[in-house]
Amino acid sequence: MTGLTSNPVPGRRSLTQISDLSDSEIVDLLGRAEIYRKQELGTRRFSDELKDSVVATLFFEGSTRTRLSFTLAAERLGARVIDLAVSASSVSKGESLKDTCDTVSALGADAVVVRHPNEGAPLQIASWTSLAVVNAGDGCHEHPTQALGDLFSLSSAFEGVGNLAAKKIAIVGDILHSRVARSLSALLGRFGSKVVLVGPPDMMVDRPSALGAEFSFDLDEVVGEVDVLYLLRIQRERIQGGYHSSIDSYTRRFQLDQKRYLRMAPKSIVMHPGPVNRGVELAVKLPEERSLISEQVRNGVLMRMAVFSKILATASDDRRSQRGVFGD
Ligand code: ASP
Repeated sequence: MTGLTSNPVPGRRSLTQISDLSDSEIVDLLGRAEIYRKQELGTRRFSDELKDSVVATLFFEGSTRTRLSFTLAAERLGARVIDLAVSASSVSKGESLKDTCDTVSALGADAVVVRHPNEGAPLQIASWTSLAVVNAGDGCHEHPTQALGDLFSLSSAFEGVGNLAAKKIAIVGDILHSRVARSLSALLGRFGSKVVLVGPPDMMVDRPSALGAEFSFDLDEVVGEVDVLYLLRIQRERIQGGYHSSIDSYTRRFQLDQKRYLRMAPKSIVMHPGPVNRGVELAVKLPEERSLISEQVRNGVLMRMAVFSKILATASDDRRSQRGVFGD
């Protein structure tokens, strides 16, 4: 499937994976996020362009920053946000995912932001309902808005998305279970960056080339050569049977410690999608100018605003026209 408009329900737009987006749609999202950044730096006031829209958040997995980020993004543009607290809802009484989505739809939502442990759940929802669906992370599959926010951070750091073509970016850690690694390598490959996936063999994907990336089992081999070191957390909750290798051996080989940090190129930068496990993947205090970690959180909100503005402008028009057909 390609194109944001490829939601199975005609006229609805969903974002379930990076391949839903064309290159020009990605550039358009970067432009929208930049407009919101200027508004934020200036007046901190945003238009209420989504004031007739209702966004539902449906998180079947824990989340702090992603849920807050989506909520803030929707509210900044004037949308109403309804949060279905999954453990307190009928889902814990056995309601099926389809029934839950039908309920969210009947409550008048235009869009649903979904985080789910099963790969493909957001796409499945998009095929069942007329809601615009935004994937907030599905199992080990994708986390497209995280990657888009990171692309926005990178394009700002390197003064334009065009400059990413010459950059080498190492994504380091538990690649196998990371939805961020999948979305980000797919996205960066589209802009010509050289992506190297780095991690132990038991945390590496079978075919890095399918993600448009090279791979290495040795961080020391690549740390001095990269423009960006993108660190990942070990995704313990997604490792079947638990993580049995020794954390000591992991940190010895893949931790960004003082020694490795000093080997990095002087202007190279460090990123992390959070939450950071200090003392595991990161054990050095980074100077502000070398870390994009806080910027990633700020830019994540701006990018989610951009995504909502792009998909919901159409969604509320559709809903208004449906109301027109069925009366009020
Ligand atoms: N927050 C990111 C995710 O939901 C990364 C992580 O949890 O390690 O995938």
